Amino acid sequence: MISLYIHLPFCHGKCRYCDFVSTTNMGLIDDYLQVLFKEMDLNQEKFSKEKIRTIYLGGGTPSSLGQKRLEKLFEKIRDTFQVEDGIEWTMEINPESGKNLDFEALAYRGLNRVSMGIQSGQDQILKFLGRIHCQEDVLTCLNQLEKAGIQEINGDFIFGLPNQDLQDIEKDLNYLKNLPLSHLSYYSFIPEEGTPLGDGVLEGRYLLPEEELDRAMAHKIEDALKDLGYKQYEVSNFTKKNPCRHNLAYWEVKDYLGLGLNAHSSYGNKRWENVSSFQEYFNRIKDRKRPILQSTSLTNQDRLLEKIILSLRLNRGIPVKELEKDYKIDFSKTFKEALDKNLGRSLVQEENNYRLTSYGRDIANRVELDFYTCL
Ligand code: SF4
Repeated sequence: MISLYIHLPFCHGKCRYCDFVSTTNMGLIDDYLQVLFKEMDLNQEKFSKEKIRTIYLGGGTPSSLGQKRLEKLFEKIRDTFQVEDGIEWTMEINPESGKNLDFEALAYRGLNRVSMGIQSGQDQILKFLGRIHCQEDVLTCLNQLEKAGIQEINGDFIFGLPNQDLQDIEKDLNYLKNLPLSHLSYYSFIPEEGTPLGDGVLEGRYLLPEEELDRAMAHKIEDALKDLGYKQYEVSNFTKKNPCRHNLAYWEVKDYLGLGLNAHSSYGNKRWENVSSFQEYFNRIKDRKRPILQSTSLTNQDRLLEKIILSLRLNRGIPVKELEKDYKIDFSKTFKEALDKNLGRSLVQEENNYRLTSYGRDIANRVELDFYTCL
């Protein structure tokens, strides 16, 4: 079984914090889809025996492709791969373009989960971020999703922005509590070099909240979402219904195939990454070559560490028994130093798993490093 990710790198506007591979040149969409379909064909034989576990259309802004193209893409996916009815099928949408979609027709073709970039309930923050949607767009989308019977709806939110304080967080929490969202991804802002906001922070024109305030914001969000009935299952993810099975596949180091510009794949002990230039992507596929920029083979040790680091993100923690069986190790002996150092404030043991405490999540990078240095 594999999960399928498809990258659709088009957005109607570029957000000021975004360093994802995407373009605002909508004139490229049809050529891109044509080439993407060929990439699917190139992968069909190799993956034809694999059932698809989950599908995720990300970007960019998949909703900016418009109804007709999306329907064609959904049909192409079904024609190319083994897609059973009812598997988790997610599409990212921006409220601005999502409001023009016929979700019922997409649900008929398999869509059953939507991830909406909401980011904030405050217009001045949306403007600062360079988002092009407004609150009304969010409500229109939610209304249409309800009519289409799509109940799994994630809202992406962001915190820890320049000059943000706890009152801003409170305002966003008050805003989201009235929205019918089954799932929330609440990310801490990371200033990326080469973006207007990231450069503003790195050059000192914008001031980020101090670490103590940033952590106070994270704890306020965790407490408030718990009170609203959202269960945290990963550092930044909370759900009232189901966790996102597609993202769980990444964190549990399961196999996935990524198609499209700059998409990443993981299959057995192989990892590969597609090229990130449109021209190169088009040229390689026109030459009937897979558009792979680089691929690596992981050793058993790499995979073990990857599993530990990623499972530390999950509330269920490190699955010790599973790792001992798969990698033939005595976990407590191999990682004695990391466990001795972190059991207590940053790590707790529950049954056969070790998981981060709330404080441990604040210093997760340091805990990860301790596991790295054991091997
Ligand atoms: S909509 Fe998403 S992918 Fe597009 S520019 Fe904004 S953050 Fe980046």
